[in-house]
Amino acid sequence: MADLSALSVTDVHAHPFLDRGAITTEQFTNFTAFGGGSQEFMEQAGIEFTGEVRGELLRVKQDTLYFRRLIHDLAGYFGCDPTLDAVVGARDAAVASDGYTEYVRKLYADAGLEAVVFDFGVPLPQLDVAEVSAQLPITVAPIFRIEPLIAELLKTDYGWAEFKRTYDDTIDRALTQEGFLGLKSIIAYRTGLDVSPLSRNEDQGFKALDAIRRGLGGGSMKMLRDYLLCRAMEHCMEHDVPMQIHTGMGDFEVNLVLCRPAYLMDLLRFPTFRSCNVILVHGGYPYSREAGYMANVLPRVYCDVSEGIPFAAHGARSIFSEILEMTPVSKVVYGSDGYTVPEIIYTSAKLGKQALGQVLDGLVDDGFIGKGDVEEIAGMILAGTANRLYKIG
Ligand SMILES: [Zn+2]
Repeated sequence: MADLSALSVTDVHAHPFLDRGAITTEQFTNFTAFGGGSQEFMEQAGIEFTGEVRGELLRVKQDTLYFRRLIHDLAGYFGCDPTLDAVVGARDAAVASDGYTEYVRKLYADAGLEAVVFDFGVPLPQLDVAEVSAQLPITVAPIFRIEPLIAELLKTDYGWAEFKRTYDDTIDRALTQEGFLGLKSIIAYRTGLDVSPLSRNEDQGFKALDAIRRGLGGGSMKMLRDYLLCRAMEHCMEHDVPMQIHTGMGDFEVNLVLCRPAYLMDLLRFPTFRSCNVILVHGGYPYSREAGYMANVLPRVYCDVSEGIPFAAHGARSIFSEILEMTPVSKVVYGSDGYTVPEIIYTSAKLGKQALGQVLDGLVDDGFIGKGDVEEIAGMILAGTANRLYKIG
């Protein structure tokens, strides 16, 4: 069996966090669970957050296979019983005795984690890049999400000229002076991925903002967001940085129909955008094969495996397997979508290496690649391609 444990990892998609000190088992459960089932979620529906409801939500989170795996991975690392109490106790003790940064250094060294590309658009208000970098003993590669900027601009009374100038200037400054290494969009959470490439016409932005300001609706928000996504891709091409676009599943608010990667096809094959390096974040999970096909026929489109790995648990193996059916091996990038605490990024890297090793073993057995190719291919997927795209290292 291929042993990838010594290979270094660049996690191409995660969200930044700061030291939280000691945390309780309930906090650990809520911090590490996949997006849904909060107190707020139930209360919005008029469901009183009683002790019973609280227990029910915790059980739901702790009963995912992903969470069971997280506990087992950490128990193996700490050498403690595979129970939530023992693992959180060992974790808090290690943070207290080593200090947070040293705790993370040892934990990440165990998984070979050397760099993480952080989408600073979550959490909000945005964390300070320098503060996050100072706490984490790895390369922090920040990327800039366009939707918080759009939300800020919509709160102003700017006319189109000022709106567009501020949008462009803010992105330019982020990429040239503030150290951001690329852009990210979650338009799949807003108006969907069916973006017409003809939206790049500046007049569309003018018309849409004018309609929004006059309260006319009529699809004007979609017209505006579609224009601004096209503009963001033009910035990426000007500055030679990658564009990450969320595809597939996400928090419960995601539009699970209009998040299919196929909806992006018209945009990404349009001549203007063919030179843009685009990463289909989450590889469109559960539509992984669709994303994999696009990375085959569109030379500058890449597939990230985050979120499916680790949250789809044992699906990690089929995610790599399905994406690699059509995506060239040099265009699959490893990511986790970790957030809030360092442990998600850790367990994801362990699971990702295991699943990738199993899939590559199978490809050797079936005669697609040689044993000697395994390390080279794994190296590209786990770190090499992301390092090249983001000019890390
Ligand atoms: Zn994410």
